[in-house]
Amino acid sequence: MSTAALHQVEMKPKEYKSEVSVVWCPGCGHHGILNAIYRALSELGIDPTKMMSISGIGCSSRTPYFIKSYKMHTLHGRAGAVATGAQIARPDLVVMVTGGDGDGFSIGGGHMPHMARKNVDMTYVLYDNGIYGLTKGQYSPTSRPELKAYTTPYGGPDTPMDPLLYMLTYGATYVAQAFAGKPKVCADLIKGAIEHRGFSYVNIFSQCTSFNHIDTVEYYRDLVEEVPTGHDVTDLGAAMALARRPNGKAPMGLLYQDKRPTLVDRLQEIVTKVGGHPDYDLNKIIDLSRP
Ligand code: SF4
Ligand code: MG
Repeated sequence: MSTAALHQVEMKPKEYKSEVSVVWCPGCGHHGILNAIYRALSELGIDPTKMMSISGIGCSSRTPYFIKSYKMHTLHGRAGAVATGAQIARPDLVVMVTGGDGDGFSIGGGHMPHMARKNVDMTYVLYDNGIYGLTKGQYSPTSRPELKAYTTPYGGPDTPMDPLLYMLTYGATYVAQAFAGKPKVCADLIKGAIEHRGFSYVNIFSQCTSFNHIDTVEYYRDLVEEVPTGHDVTDLGAAMALARRPNGKAPMGLLYQDKRPTLVDRLQEIVTKVGGHPDYDLNKIIDLSRP
């Protein structure tokens, strides 16, 4: 992200809470993720007037309401596309998308690879609970086949997708994973994601206490294992090997980080090449393209 938005204010985590009451179920993992976001914003001193919080539809997509910042609650699955536009128009802002596994990888699945490959300079926090919570418990792209949900009363017929392998494959330049029950780990990874220049993806396991009765706090606690000391975060192959859970454990921590030009960097290069408008005025670019 642009460093211009960093360390602009001194605000405690609770001062990033908006006036809107949090409506998630008691025990939902999303509470932990939201607190981690407050903490990351506070530690980075992000000015709420320099932040754009964007979501699609789902329980987790309510997050922007609870954060003191500019916000857009968009269409199901379309948060990433809107965020890409917002980031191009205002590259000086902190752009953050918050959403769930269904919103991101099913309805919004067509957008995910493009944010990653274009290296859009933003943070995508995916609340992965392996279920559609808001619509009351349907099987999602990350559901385990053992899950008996309303749409799969005898269990699921397919193999769950792996968000980490997906993001590593398509070129995300910051890929991390955590569990909502580890708020400090979540906050540190979200903080790193915001500071990173490029497309940052943070997958956070989050228990849905109302509709996913197999991915419990205990299950996730036992599932995750910290990324081993000495892991080279610049080694894509090593990151992919970890994401494949060689010992059955899901890696928790930063798996991969890389530096390459962002979408805005590349657009600026083109603008400069065609005669310059380094101030990056989209209207001028459109004018240039006219015959
Ligand atoms: Fe959380 Fe599930 Fe309740 Fe939604 S339905 S708020 S995901 S516990
Ligand atoms: Mg979900």
